[in-house]
Amino acid sequence: MADTATSFDVIVIGAGPAGYPCALRAAQNKLTVACIDEWQNPDGSWTFGGTCLNAGCIPSKALLESSELYHRAQVEFAAHGIAATGLAFDLARMQKRKATIVKGSTQGIAGMLKATGVAALQGHGRLLAGNRVEYTAADGSRRELVAKHVVLASGSQPMPLPSVPFDGQRVVDSQGALEFDAVPKRLGVIGAGVIGLELGSVWRRLGAGVVVLEAMEQFLWMADAAVAKEALRHFRKQGLDVRLGARVGGADVGPDGVTLRYTDAGGEQTVTVDKVVVAIGRRPFTAGLLGEGTGVKVDARGFIEVDDQCRTGAGNVWAVGDVVRGPMLAHKGKEEGVMVADLIAGLHSEVNYGAVPSVIYTAPEIAWVGQTEQQVKEGGREYKVGTFPFTASGRARAMEATAGFCKVIAAQDDDEILGVHIIGPMAGELIAEAVLAMDYSASAEDLQRTMHAHPTLSEALHEAALNADKRAIDILNR
Ligand code: FAD
Ligand code: AMP
Repeated sequence: MADTATSFDVIVIGAGPAGYPCALRAAQNKLTVACIDEWQNPDGSWTFGGTCLNAGCIPSKALLESSELYHRAQVEFAAHGIAATGLAFDLARMQKRKATIVKGSTQGIAGMLKATGVAALQGHGRLLAGNRVEYTAADGSRRELVAKHVVLASGSQPMPLPSVPFDGQRVVDSQGALEFDAVPKRLGVIGAGVIGLELGSVWRRLGAGVVVLEAMEQFLWMADAAVAKEALRHFRKQGLDVRLGARVGGADVGPDGVTLRYTDAGGEQTVTVDKVVVAIGRRPFTAGLLGEGTGVKVDARGFIEVDDQCRTGAGNVWAVGDVVRGPMLAHKGKEEGVMVADLIAGLHSEVNYGAVPSVIYTAPEIAWVGQTEQQVKEGGREYKVGTFPFTASGRARAMEATAGFCKVIAAQDDDEILGVHIIGPMAGELIAEAVLAMDYSASAEDLQRTMHAHPTLSEALHEAALNADKRAIDILNR
């Protein structure tokens, strides 16, 4: 598709993990497609891939991996009989590795868009009435495009905390926290959500003193309570100073650093740090996206309103990813983007919102799918629970990674799996089996009757399913 074309079957605005898969699938479906993205890196370069590839999932996992390896070399190698003397890290090299991974991934997307015939347009897209899109290119030139269908995939941006404004130096957002060129001696993280915990872990492992201030009394409210309790115990043991019920209300920048003011049960408190990461959540991004008279509705929280199939209800305009309701996760956006591209092509498609996995890439790793035990209890359905600790897993013991457990919640009446919660080694990989099981409406017995290779971590999930019926083999059933 020539970059000068003005008429398309589909125009996608946004090339993050929701937008670019939508464009690629639409092209696979033999539709003519344009994908517009305005992401610009701090050095001024333009790239595809959105938040996830440039400033989110991928760079954070690159630094988590490096810092985790360093930490393991420090604390676990000795148990394996390996002496790691003179251990040191080179942060500049770690950051360069991260940048190389990001560049390779974003270039890969640009290459895929080109190879599948998508007109990949760098610049700003604005939806106008009548399925028209105003495209402002990187050089400032403007032209009007038209499409049979327009998909909005403009994503999200960090939520600011007005009382602790970003200054790009001492007070940064998640993107800034991925770019530190020196390990801060004292780091304050505001918000103990997924992003705050992952970034706090990176810098803690590299030697920072990390204080995490969380307004809520309950740690990881969205996770199963047993998992949250276990996680908090491990994080505190690792030296993360997690303070719950601590609502940050202001900051004073002085010669000694940034003094954060917060209130907790004890009243007014302060803590002074060298750098602050504000990680209090993300909000949908629609600035400059919607022209007059498009009919697209935005709710009070800024999300574009859509139905279960991501239709906005305004002509052939769809919206996917972080800019619409649901968890702000790359894989959720991807499945929505692909669904919309298939629906546009007249194919059948749907997203199972009941089986969206969540993963927190800390150590131990945390992953879950479906309902927590609290949610099942509130729903009033009779249920049974099976658990299995990694201390009883031969593979986990061999890996020197026995922290955590698997937990399976199933309905008492028909044995349907209602939720699976894992804290422990490779939890993010192990959860895939549970997602598949739930997507296929499997019962706990289905998991029980599936053979799992020995010795693998996946046996822990198998045994947890068995334990739900007091039939586990490798632990005493209680
Ligand atoms: P985005 O990725 O935000 O992409 C939207 C794109 O649209 C951007 O490139 C933007 O520049 C462009 N755009 C917006 N408006 C316009 C316009 N008008 N014209 C042209 N272009 C426009 N999720 C996970 O699932 N797993 C993780 O491990 C994970 N880790 C994360 C770590 C961090 C530090 C952060 C910040 C996020 C993380 N996330 C993770 C969340 C994940 O990044 C988002 O859920 C995901 O990027 C959302 O995809 P999206 O395509 O909806 O939006
Ligand atoms: P998430 O939305 O998962 O990224 O998590 C963000 C976290 O930040 C939530 O747990 C909020 O309770 C927390 N939070 C929001 N505002 C504040 C604040 N002013 N002080 C401390 N924590 C906050």
